[in-house]
Amino acid sequence: MPNLVGRARNAAAPDHQQVPPAERWTGPLHAVAEGPGRAAREADEQVPALCGQRVEIVAVEDVPDDTGLCQACQYA
Ligand SMILES: [Zn+2]
Repeated sequence: MPNLVGRARNAAAPDHQQVPPAERWTGPLHAVAEGPGRAAREADEQVPALCGQRVEIVAVEDVPDDTGLCQACQYA
């Protein structure tokens, strides 16, 4: 498991800050490089994952147990 993980925003969630974590993001986990990931988390911005998908940094505790890691990121 990489140090930093991100997930794509759930475009169906109308107000990003108001929805619970489980509905805030969608799809698999993506691995994010340490430097850009930390900067994006502090700025509350999206960042490209190792596979190129734009993601938000998420805390591990906000990720459901059955969420898998993106295959492209897994072997990046
Ligand atoms: Zn990925």
